[in-house]
Amino acid sequence: EGSARLIDGAAVARGVRARVAEEVARLKAEHGLTPGLSVVLVGDDPASAVYVRNKEKQSVEAGMRGETIRMPATTTQEELLAVVDRLNADERVHGILVQMPLPKQIEPAAVIRGIRPDKDVDAFHPANVGKLLIGERDGFAPCTPAGVMVLLEEAGVPLKGAEVVVVGRSNIVGKPMAALLMQPGVDATVTVCHSRTRDLAAHTRRADVLIAAIGRGRFVTADMVKPGAVVIDVGMNRIDDPTTKTGTRLVGDVDFDAVRSVASAITPVPGGVGPMTIAMLLANTVRAARQLAGVADAG
Ligand code: NDP
Repeated sequence: EGSARLIDGAAVARGVRARVAEEVARLKAEHGLTPGLSVVLVGDDPASAVYVRNKEKQSVEAGMRGETIRMPATTTQEELLAVVDRLNADERVHGILVQMPLPKQIEPAAVIRGIRPDKDVDAFHPANVGKLLIGERDGFAPCTPAGVMVLLEEAGVPLKGAEVVVVGRSNIVGKPMAALLMQPGVDATVTVCHSRTRDLAAHTRRADVLIAAIGRGRFVTADMVKPGAVVIDVGMNRIDDPTTKTGTRLVGDVDFDAVRSVASAITPVPGGVGPMTIAMLLANTVRAARQLAGVADAG
């Protein structure tokens, strides 16, 4: 009956954005450095348009230079790579993000490889993926799993030696999530599950911390959760709901109402992991600016 504590991602994200804004102000005042984020949007996918607008808006609100480069759906891979190259060379640009998904004539891997790794604030370039795995701290971590790490830390969830089960193995969420959790210093014991996992519930029921990144609405039910577990819901699934104005509604990968009475803490959807993603993007961009300009961390 709703006993779990809510982990308020919107509030934590506000805190991250406030720290980013302070750091931006310091970089401007002490170093004449204005961190800049350039987002490239190809085509007219409505969901992507909303994401991109929020990225620009929040970077500008943090005092950064934010721009969106809009290209038509008919853009060729060559044309997109030429824009990425221009941004790679532009000293005012510290973070480059090409919004996915891309039209089918463009190969996403080729575009990701075209971004300078030290401006790759989405952290999907193989150089940053590799640095994350070998523990080199000057790379970037992908924004969504990095945001989950901040949420767990702010919520005071113990991870050292804890059984953490991640459901999902995508390059965007599941895999980097596992890499962050198993880092020395974090020291979780990580199990990664996916669609081929035999007896998924047997794994999830062992979790002290359960992280769902599946892409299936309300897939994780109460019987899959150990009493007292911390549940992090990365999922964002749009379902039909005739009672709302738009006729649809966002739900997570976790059956929130049922799991809430079993878990000790849980992230809501919306208002959990979602707001953290852009906040971490801004944080990565500020760090990129500092590293590219050779300015030390404020500490
Ligand atoms: P993907 O579709 O790329 O990956 C989903 C993963 O879940 C896959 O590894 C898949 O296994 C696994 N899976 C699917 N069905 C099952 C099942 N029945 N049992 C066990 N595992 C299963 O999705 P993403 O990782 O990109 O995203 C996951 C969710 O997170 C989505 O809802 C997405 O919208 C959301 N998301 C939210 C973000 C945010 O900002 N909050 C950012 C990014 C994503 P397999 O590999 O075997 O196919």
